[in-house]
Amino acid sequence: MTDAKKELLSIADSCVKCGICSPHCPTYTHTQNENESPRGRIALIQAWAGGQLNITDNLLNHIDTCLLCRACEKSCPAVVPYAKLIDDFRAQIHEEMPPSMSVKLLKTVAENKRVQRWMKSGLRLYQKNNLQKTARFLRLPSLFGFGKLERLVPDYQETQTLQNYYAAQGETKGDVGLFVGCMGELFDFETVLTTIRVLTHVGFNVHLPENQTCCGALALHEGDAETAQKLASQNQQAFANKNLQAIVTIASGCGSTLKDYAPKVVDISHFLMQTDFDFNKTLKPLRATIRLHTPCSLKNVLKTDKSVLNLLKQIPDAIILPLPETMQCCGAAGSYSLRHGEMAQTLLDELLDVSLEKPTDYLVSSNIGCALHIAAGLRERGENVTVVHPVVLLARQL
Ligand code: SF4
Ligand code: SF4
Repeated sequence: MTDAKKELLSIADSCVKCGICSPHCPTYTHTQNENESPRGRIALIQAWAGGQLNITDNLLNHIDTCLLCRACEKSCPAVVPYAKLIDDFRAQIHEEMPPSMSVKLLKTVAENKRVQRWMKSGLRLYQKNNLQKTARFLRLPSLFGFGKLERLVPDYQETQTLQNYYAAQGETKGDVGLFVGCMGELFDFETVLTTIRVLTHVGFNVHLPENQTCCGALALHEGDAETAQKLASQNQQAFANKNLQAIVTIASGCGSTLKDYAPKVVDISHFLMQTDFDFNKTLKPLRATIRLHTPCSLKNVLKTDKSVLNLLKQIPDAIILPLPETMQCCGAAGSYSLRHGEMAQTLLDELLDVSLEKPTDYLVSSNIGCALHIAAGLRERGENVTVVHPVVLLARQL
């Protein structure tokens, strides 16, 4: 038996098969199929690593339908490192699970700055000349196999070249690094600029090392361990030797991957709540109802979800309605919605049904992947709800 298989077995053996995790698992909840539960997936990997089961399409599909939302991990009394088990298994069988065209394209964009620049120019052309409307009307993206990816594309935001360093305004409280993330710069530049503005406003020098790159989550969860490792090393080097108080992230999905290999990683909302800046005295009132979506990566991995609520509560007059604690993954899950559209749509519909029970002006999410997926769902329902990052909403009241 190979060392990799022994390692898989030792993780799988730590599961006592109690099933406490099963009701927390979105795929099990919706299918009631044990093979689609955390316990079932662990048993499948255990049987494969132990030589009792061969790789089949069925087996691969049961593993691939896992969202890696890690709700199971959070509820597990035996603290089974479930995500590591799945990532390690996917790395073992990487060759047997070729990614779809959409996932390949997403990875290429995420991991390559030059491609991102081309993409930015392409998006500008695509949207500014009404090409997007025509293409969507004629269903061209679906015909060419990119429908699920194209539906996520938000309205084009003007960008500018970012500096490597922004100095604090007034008295300096310290230095932080800002992890921008591949999708942030491309699809949510407002959040990037706003975060720099807020951090400098509350007294921090902000460093944006030019050679920072994608966090590697897409590669890691696709089983491409070599690329994930390469990206991790590049980020470690980018943020090293800068005497940083924290590496601040604006997408909890990136933060949850980054924290496994970089020190002092913290979500922006949690970081701001830890500063001594008095937002409540500084912010203008906002008479609006805000639905608060909590990404799985913030709730189950970074575990700083309460900070977002506490931060938004600083806005005078705003009515904050958090989605219920029992709300499951929205279905975005990295590239999941591109591979498993039906389950992703089921989970999204559940979230939107609850979100829209009461009139809502804003839906706030701390993860760009979830925000794009939810915004696409709202667009398709014809709902006029603005999806925005919590820090952007906060900064508009500064
Ligand atoms: S993963 Fe944890 S909670 Fe789930 S069956 Fe195994 S031991 Fe129980
Ligand atoms: S990570 Fe999420 S989808 Fe996967 S088994 Fe755990 S709870 Fe279920």
